[in-house]
Amino acid sequence: MTATVIDGKEFAARVRGQVAEHVDRLKADHGITPGLAVVLVGEDPASQVYVRSKGKMTVEVGMKSVEHRLEADTSEADLLALIDQLNKDAEIHGILVQLPLPKHLNEDLVINSIDPAKDVDGFHISNVGLLGTGQKSMVPCTPLGCLMMLRDHHGSISGMDAVVIGRSNIVGKPMAQLLLNDSATVTIAHSRTKDLAEIVRRADIVVAAVGRPEMVPGDWIKPGATVIDVGINRLDAPERGAGKTKLVGDVDYDSCAAVAGAITPVPGGVGPMTIACLLANTVTACCRANGLAEPE
Ligand code: NDP
Repeated sequence: MTATVIDGKEFAARVRGQVAEHVDRLKADHGITPGLAVVLVGEDPASQVYVRSKGKMTVEVGMKSVEHRLEADTSEADLLALIDQLNKDAEIHGILVQLPLPKHLNEDLVINSIDPAKDVDGFHISNVGLLGTGQKSMVPCTPLGCLMMLRDHHGSISGMDAVVIGRSNIVGKPMAQLLLNDSATVTIAHSRTKDLAEIVRRADIVVAAVGRPEMVPGDWIKPGATVIDVGINRLDAPERGAGKTKLVGDVDYDSCAAVAGAITPVPGGVGPMTIACLLANTVTACCRANGLAEPE
């Protein structure tokens, strides 16, 4: 069997197209331009790349993009003051503080100082609680992107056995919650899980969010299962030339694709969906703030 490749790049382009159409309507019918503010503290190279592409795509779909780049030694008080200012800014509908923050800043305190209605990353404790109780919330972008791909591929995932490998607050836990809200039967695995291979072998849906290159081999996968690979790991690739690197996921793509029914590639799977969902969340936040109908 060769798995169907779930093309996240193409799917994300479709989502961004829908976002752009919604933005056009908000401008034309209501004179409103959704605005997204991204706050970056410090010079982490990977974060700089993410922030740049978020800003570029925000502008491409017709929204207002605001970037605040702060020095690595910015004080907590100054960062909180900026967030307070953005909370009060009527032209800003979404606020994202790029993680990780430098060590001297309290991440929980900072995230929980964002107005939950503008928390387009869905990390504020209120949004976590709303999601956990099945209420309307802001949903974290990466798991939301995974859910959209699963719904698109399967129609319904009700009753399916799902295993999420990883229990982080930003991916694993909200992913499990979303699968549960869609009536899958969910197992969450982590570094202390016993017999991981056996647990994964039972799953109709496997979501790998571990951060360990190619950890999941094909012989853990139930034939026909759907594999969603969240992992982004950069490895040296001397075969591509001196000093070259490549990105791989948390699953061993070739052996898993030989057994799975469907699989997301890395790159070009979950990654592009994350930014598309951030843009979609910003439009949702803007509609809610203005008492307008939300996108589907
Ligand atoms: P974290 O490091 O926060 O969490 C990793 C999780 O994996 C932990 O729960 C950990 O368990 C678990 N784990 C570690 N080793 C094992 C093991 N041997 N067996 C089973 N479970 C294990 O990572 P994130 O959730 O932030 O990210 C996961 C991956 O997803 C990374 O590669 C990251 O780069 C990628 N990512 C991709 C995004 C995208 O847009 N595509 C967005 C965000 C992340 P324990 O809790 O017990 O320590």
